[in-house]
Amino acid sequence: MAGDKSRGRIIFHVDVNSAFLSWSAVKRLKEDPRAVDLRTIPSAVGGDVKTRHGIITAKSIPAKKYGVTTGEPVVSALRKCPDLVLIPSDFAFYRECSHAFIDILKKFSDQVEQVSIDEAYMDMTGREAAFSAEIAAGERFPECAAARIRQEIREKLGFTVNVGISHNKLLAKMASDFAKPDRTHTLYPEEVPAKMWPLPIGELYGCGRQTADKLTTMGIRTIGDAAAADPDILKSILGDKAGESIHRKANGIGSSTVRVEREKAKSYSHETTTSEDITGENFDHLVPPMIAHMADKVAARMQRDGVRAGTVFVVVKTGAFKRHTRQRGLAVPTCEASVISETGLQLLRDLLLGDGGLFARGETLRLLGVGGSNLEEGEYRQLDLFSWASQQKMETGERKEGSDVPAAKREEAKHDVRKVRQGDTAAAPAKETGDSAKTASQGGKAAEQDEANEKRRRLEEMMTRVQKRYGNAVLQKGMSRSGDKEKKDPSAGHER
Ligand SMILES: [Mg+2]
Repeated sequence: MAGDKSRGRIIFHVDVNSAFLSWSAVKRLKEDPRAVDLRTIPSAVGGDVKTRHGIITAKSIPAKKYGVTTGEPVVSALRKCPDLVLIPSDFAFYRECSHAFIDILKKFSDQVEQVSIDEAYMDMTGREAAFSAEIAAGERFPECAAARIRQEIREKLGFTVNVGISHNKLLAKMASDFAKPDRTHTLYPEEVPAKMWPLPIGELYGCGRQTADKLTTMGIRTIGDAAAADPDILKSILGDKAGESIHRKANGIGSSTVRVEREKAKSYSHETTTSEDITGENFDHLVPPMIAHMADKVAARMQRDGVRAGTVFVVVKTGAFKRHTRQRGLAVPTCEASVISETGLQLLRDLLLGDGGLFARGETLRLLGVGGSNLEEGEYRQLDLFSWASQQKMETGERKEGSDVPAAKREEAKHDVRKVRQGDTAAAPAKETGDSAKTASQGGKAAEQDEANEKRRRLEEMMTRVQKRYGNAVLQKGMSRSGDKEKKDPSAGHER
């Protein structure tokens, strides 16, 4: 049962119903109010509509009735449902919808944690006052708050959400996944035996397909079976960490901490679970397009938020439920999909292929992810160019491999600078702020102006070189971010 600490907290998990599909339907109806509502016919978002290849990323409820599933190849979905209407994805519009959705949630609570483009947790503890009229009429606070949230999203934005309510995030998340669409469900700890334990173990949040398969073969078929199992048995099947985690979750134990500072993300990443095991044999066929697709999404989000990443990382999850990550510092921070994609692919080759790779150890993969960390905003641009300049000098004198070290040091330094700027003084002793901070704050009074002029001249030089090497986009985005963004993204101003 849920830990005592979370008792009394009211946590919502709000999840957009068939998000991409609903949002495409909303857009279509906006453009042509007489168009058929995609939600009412077998339809799906994903893949290349023309060539009919790729993967389904969202499907309508009528499509689900044909057995079409998210993550399955378009070809196989069409076999199940030949009349399936395929729609191309439209991430620019999806982001707008996502923003508008989160904005509404923030009207109901200042404790909102967005966990993906279409879902968020809200801490609704102690917010009864706003609903006193309904409560006086004999309604229960959480349910009437949820009803109001659903109504406002439906009426203002034209799509529907499910709201799951409990004392912690895990149970709220499980609850929002019950019957859809446009529904509220509670899953309080006392409801767990009746509502959650009869479900197949694979439906437990965080229990992947391979874990579920392993447990099922061992006779642990439902969430209740796992809850009742001896934790040591689960550990012996799944390993200590995963076994412990499944046991806790099956018993409804989870965190109730809603992390608010989502806007200041520490990293941007995208992960995809594949419908087919990735092995050494199909790596070249499957992985490059997946990474390119995910890098596109990561880059789009970074560009939207006006940040660049100094480090690219990849994450994989093996059939044995183990996560592995690799990361690499970049000479120049980026928000370009091609750089993220190329670096990610190199990292994956290092991690997976060759004699020392995971494939050589007999592993297969079910999940792949790529992302960027060591984020920085436009204002650091100039300092970066100087660091890059000194590094370039070094590269011409030394061998290229040497660049990894200063890059890592530089990132450390920038990281500390950021902490100082954010007021986290304890984390960053002044002497460790590194070269990028020094360029901003050191130098004698008289020499300072000369030095600044000299730097400006070098900066101009560097910019020309960067421009030649990385193209125009990288500079424009960094230099005049806000002005640029408005010009480049005409959809950003749409009313929703
Ligand atoms: Mg959803």
